Amino acid sequence: MPSGKTHDKITKVATLAIAVFSGIVTKDLAISSMTVVSFAFSGFMFGPDLDIYSRQYLRWCWLRWIWLPYQKRVKHRSWVSHGPIIGTCGRILYLGVAILAATAPASVIQLIFLPESQLATIRLIKWAISAISKYPLLFTWAAIGLELGAASHYFADWTVSFWKKRNK
Ligand SMILES: [Zn+2]
Repeated sequence: MPSGKTHDKITKVATLAIAVFSGIVTKDLAISSMTVVSFAFSGFMFGPDLDIYSRQYLRWCWLRWIWLPYQKRVKHRSWVSHGPIIGTCGRILYLGVAILAATAPASVIQLIFLPESQLATIRLIKWAISAISKYPLLFTWAAIGLELGAASHYFADWTVSFWKKRNK
């Protein structure tokens, strides 16, 4: 499979292509920017190789421990991390749960001291739902960017594997 360095090079070049592509298709600066940012984020930090000790994993810096249970549970290059669409959906879900879990201590403190106030976890879920329903196109393109970023990764993995098998 390609090295992390090669994957990074692919992401850099493809980000330019995605900027042109999304600009032409959406004709909207905000949506196109969101697509480019999501694509780059997916390629550099949110890609399939979060299932191992990788450049993507290291880029989470002091938050990298979030991905340790993911690495423990998900087999490297399995369909769970490297499967089209399912890989990205799984990571979104995983990160979403991690973010909600991070709000849990605040919610517990609220339950003790401010039982009448709306819990931080509930507030965050409501905020996310309202943001998505307010800007559905923006979030759809963000999801497309995330998936394309992951796709550029597994497409490179598959191509190299295919050539290696063929040359054996
Ligand atoms: Zn990979």
